Amino acid sequence: MIQKRRGPGGNRGHARADRLGSRQVYGKISQNGARLPDDWRSRLPDPKSYYRKRVAKLGKTPHDGWLQGHCPFHEDRNASLSVNLSHGGWTCFAGCDSGDLVSFHMRYTGLPFKAAARELLGLRA
Ligand SMILES: [Zn+2]
Repeated sequence: MIQKRRGPGGNRGHARADRLGSRQVYGKISQNGARLPDDWRSRLPDPKSYYRKRVAKLGKTPHDGWLQGHCPFHEDRNASLSVNLSHGGWTCFAGCDSGDLVSFHMRYTGLPFKAAARELLGLRA
């Protein structure tokens, strides 16, 4: 068995936020079409209940705020997916990708960024 790293240990938050911040999907929030409310990030669903519905075999005991489960984006027999219960971030250690709740929802639904965010907020597209 290969030991896998189960979540970013120490500087959680910062490196992740920088990486996410560099993605082009951010910054396009208020362009073209229906706007997202200014406080949309604070209105996203609770990560735990969100992921619970979409991730198979999601663990019950968080480790450092992270739970492991089966990644829905690849044929996963090893619970390669880590999701964070406070900020909603996710990482697939099998190499699918990592991101935040919205990027997970985009990938899960195939929706573009704003439509995915609006759906998460329960708004009509
Ligand atoms: Zn995966």
